[in-house]
Amino acid sequence: MPPDAPVHLLPMASSYRGPLSPACTQCAEGRKMVLFVTGVCRFRCFYCPVSPNRNQKDVVYANERRVYRDEDLLDEARTMGAGGTGITGGDPLGVVDRVEHYVRLLKSTFGPSHHLHLYTHEPNAEKLRRLAAAGLDEFRLHIPHYLWGPLTADGRAYREVLEAAPAWGIRRGVEIPVLPEKEAELRRLLKTLEEIGVDFVNLNELEFSETNEAKLHDRGYALDPRRGWGVRGSRALAQALVRESGPALPIHYCSSGFKDSVQMRQRLLRQAERTAPTFAERTPDGTVVLGVVEPDGAVDLPRWASRIARRHGWGPDDYRVDVARRRVELAPGRLRGAADGLPWPAFEVEVYPTADALEVERTPLNRAALARATAAVGGT
Ligand code: SF4
Repeated sequence: MPPDAPVHLLPMASSYRGPLSPACTQCAEGRKMVLFVTGVCRFRCFYCPVSPNRNQKDVVYANERRVYRDEDLLDEARTMGAGGTGITGGDPLGVVDRVEHYVRLLKSTFGPSHHLHLYTHEPNAEKLRRLAAAGLDEFRLHIPHYLWGPLTADGRAYREVLEAAPAWGIRRGVEIPVLPEKEAELRRLLKTLEEIGVDFVNLNELEFSETNEAKLHDRGYALDPRRGWGVRGSRALAQALVRESGPALPIHYCSSGFKDSVQMRQRLLRQAERTAPTFAERTPDGTVVLGVVEPDGAVDLPRWASRIARRHGWGPDDYRVDVARRRVELAPGRLRGAADGLPWPAFEVEVYPTADALEVERTPLNRAALARATAAVGGT
């Protein structure tokens, strides 16, 4: 990297100097699948953001889809048109056999260009060398904050892995959250990483989450008043470190806003484009809007749907029956015109185009729907 390499600005206050990791490029384009291989982790960082339904649970998810068999994982990758996969947890090296299996599975199914990177807290040369041989392209070491510095003495294991990795044919970097009160230690660590010659450093904005909120408040961290869930001081320090880092250290600051508003949105847009039914309306945020009718349990759903479709002149591509959710889905515009004449609750529903189809909002379109919504509020 030239000594005067410019700082590149990205949306939502993110920035970088020097080349970006291919994994980060794919992530920004929404082309990286997130493979969560286990929630179990022995490190228990106070800022750990892993959600309560995954934290310390030995579960596997591909994006939002629970993985029970290999086909679940491959389906999810195909559904979003993944160009690569980021392997995360918990600590993936705690289940290294499982990770090696997935590395081989993804490479053999999608080819060598399917880029694979992995996050880990464990500086374990033997496991990482094994994964490199299986096809892993890149790893990112999460060095604990109490070891930030010259990586001698207690931090030596991290230094040794970073120094040895090039011989295994794998890219290696460091990815850590920016703790604003640790500026001196962080600057010393960056100097060390530059001396080692790591391929890149990724700085993440320290952010509040459902899981870590109480612990962060207990330690005196406060919310950045500007927006989002970032911790006050984290962003400003990260931006200064990107500007002031040494000339031989590719460095990238990824804000919490960038993760939500750019990476996640891009992935949702890709998934919506590939999976939403043709009658659905797609929003600029990547969500999908459907018209939904929810007949009661006694109704023969397919028969009722085809009778209503005939009456209103809907073709077979204009609606679909979701037997599992006991509902009929169609274009919201069509349903708005027909809702008043239906005996069952009709709604306009906005959902994520993800495997869990998380519902963002639902709006009643007729009296029956209003009555149900009112009863639901009254019942809480
Ligand atoms: S290493 Fe990662 S998963 Fe483990 S406790 Fe720390 S932040 Fe959480």
